[in-house]
Amino acid sequence: MSTLSETRTYEVRTYGCQMNVHDSERLSGSLEAAGYVPADGVEADVVVINTCAVRENADNKLYGNLGHLASVKRRHEGMQIAVGGCLAQKDKNVILDKAPWVDVVFGTHNMGSLPSLLERARHNDEAQIEILESLETFPSTLPTKRDSTFSGWVSISVGCNNTCTFCIVPALRGKEKDRRPGEILAEIQSLVDDGALEVTLLGQNVNSYGVEFGDRLAFGKLLRAAGQIEGLERIRFTSPHPAAFTDDVIDAMAETPAVMPQLHMPLQSGSDRILRAMRRSYRSAKFLGILDRVREKIPNAAISTDIIVGFPGETEEDFQETLRVVEQARFASAFTFQYSIRPGTPAATLPDQVPHAIVQERYERLAALQERISLEENQGLVGRRVELVVANGEGRKDTATHRLSGRAEDSRLVHFELPAGSPRPRPGDVVSVVITQAAPFHLLADSDGSPLAVRATRAGDAWDRAEAESCGVPTAAGGSATSPTKVGPVSLGLPTLRVGSAAGAASAAGAHDHGPGVSTVPIYSPTDDLRG
Ligand code: SF4
Repeated sequence: MSTLSETRTYEVRTYGCQMNVHDSERLSGSLEAAGYVPADGVEADVVVINTCAVRENADNKLYGNLGHLASVKRRHEGMQIAVGGCLAQKDKNVILDKAPWVDVVFGTHNMGSLPSLLERARHNDEAQIEILESLETFPSTLPTKRDSTFSGWVSISVGCNNTCTFCIVPALRGKEKDRRPGEILAEIQSLVDDGALEVTLLGQNVNSYGVEFGDRLAFGKLLRAAGQIEGLERIRFTSPHPAAFTDDVIDAMAETPAVMPQLHMPLQSGSDRILRAMRRSYRSAKFLGILDRVREKIPNAAISTDIIVGFPGETEEDFQETLRVVEQARFASAFTFQYSIRPGTPAATLPDQVPHAIVQERYERLAALQERISLEENQGLVGRRVELVVANGEGRKDTATHRLSGRAEDSRLVHFELPAGSPRPRPGDVVSVVITQAAPFHLLADSDGSPLAVRATRAGDAWDRAEAESCGVPTAAGGSATSPTKVGPVSLGLPTLRVGSAAGAASAAGAHDHGPGVSTVPIYSPTDDLRG
């Protein structure tokens, strides 16, 4: 139990997509800038729930959690509970009506106010609610506490000008707001200065970036400019939208070595009739044409997608169209969702909602098809040498299998063996391995006994420093892959994001692992809130 004069601890609980995970990094950053410290497993003085309104049942989950927290708060003097994010933006004071023990409710546009709202709630002994309808400060200008030393997310835009009928994002995040290129590049530079090798550019619809300041070609230019940053080895982005995916972006990808051969291109449905009902302005032929042009310029590109099964009115013929496009598209992986009603979206009130049993059966057929294709695509990589950035915490079975894990340039997850006597690479170091075996959702690179080819990186050094700091051990900058072995759990690594994959039983509920055998693209895995 803490008193108010002590340093206050906080915990942020995150639901939903990577935009929310990134927002939570900003919430943590704002709290730490205001003097709060992470609770690190002990009962926190301030619990912040960053909600997601996209999922059905999100509110049931929230109120279940709040119910539990009410009893914790009763015995924890001075504890505060804050609820923010999309559901807060949508439900506003309903949250305080249903859970009056909540201290602060804030929306998606005013995350930076959290410390002052907590302070005001404490001072006035009264719940504070502040929901802004539009963005006042671009969220990326808030302090951020990053979860990974070697990889970072950088927002380039928030909001979306499209009106897809299944999506709540436009209602909750508002119209697209673009960040100025100079600001974005400065943030990338500072990440690289801190040791990052990789960035993922984030936006609901990245290739419409520039619409706000009138430059149709801005996204391609941004990729090229980011590619000039010394030390930045891997650039990824999510999510683009097929309607506005122009050839200048494909050219920028192909001509910028740091842009990785990987693309997430949300299909949603293969049926033109359903795409129209979804208010998605491209058609399946255009979609497949984009993939052809990408592969022409970037032959080794791994392309992933999102697909919704059982949109209202979807017939067996429509679904067959989806299967046809999936067969032709040869996706490396797919995040498949069973359609479920999201209150507040236009599709929620459409007639002809498809019965659950039919959705389930179609979903299983689609998952089986994609699993076969993922396996076949992965089998094509056996025997190939790939460069991996060593990950941290991505291989749940690594300890049992005596392997380490990393991401290839195309973002495939590879579990590799550490030959006896080889130096153990640190998270963020780069290793070169030969693929020996394929499964639908991961690859294996087992050793032939020769020493592992390891390139020690600045990111590995940054990991060493962060590790030492977390143990209170002062460390000189630098270090190498030949430093003494580090074993055991660590506090850093890729942001933990649970996502679905085609055969990973992705459902609209969306809580999934991305360890071996489950998913191939976790860093920037698209979920509903970043569908594009
Ligand atoms: S699905 Fe993507 S493009 Fe469509 S409205 Fe939602 S965020 Fe915008």
